[in-house]
Amino acid sequence: MQAPGPDEELLLELLNSRPVFDGVERDRFADDGELREWSRAHGGSGSAPEAELLRLTRDRLQDVVRGAAEPASLAQALDGVSRVPELDENGVTWQQSAPPDSRLAARLVLAWAHIQEHLPGRLRPCGNDECRLFLLDLSNANRARWCSMATCGNRMKARRHYRRSRAR
Ligand SMILES: [Zn+2]
Repeated sequence: MQAPGPDEELLLELLNSRPVFDGVERDRFADDGELREWSRAHGGSGSAPEAELLRLTRDRLQDVVRGAAEPASLAQALDGVSRVPELDENGVTWQQSAPPDSRLAARLVLAWAHIQEHLPGRLRPCGNDECRLFLLDLSNANRARWCSMATCGNRMKARRHYRRSRAR
């Protein structure tokens, strides 16, 4: 199994930017400044329209991964994006071009598409229904259910144990 590429990690960061603590969502990207800083650190433009597109793309990607929306709902992130083959001494390399404000959103949607194609079913929501995080399971067994064994895994085990001991 291959290690996640840099864009897969970026995609997980985006998907996991709305964690829930004690039943309350904390949107890491609710603040324009934080989102724009994150975007600039990853090659984005850091503009206000980009921030809007990134939030929209994130929320739609979350729905698509949860099976609650169709991939077509991601279309806006790929608006104006094209790939052109260029010949060089190694053969063909693909030059991607995108409007500056969609560059990062397009990369994230393409990272999702890459996982769909090469690692189908491995990007999924955490099995704890009170958790809003996602996981990318790269293990051979492909049986991971929790975003993290330390938090959700142990919590769900404790809950099952509690139910069992109450049933007795
Ligand atoms: Zn979780």
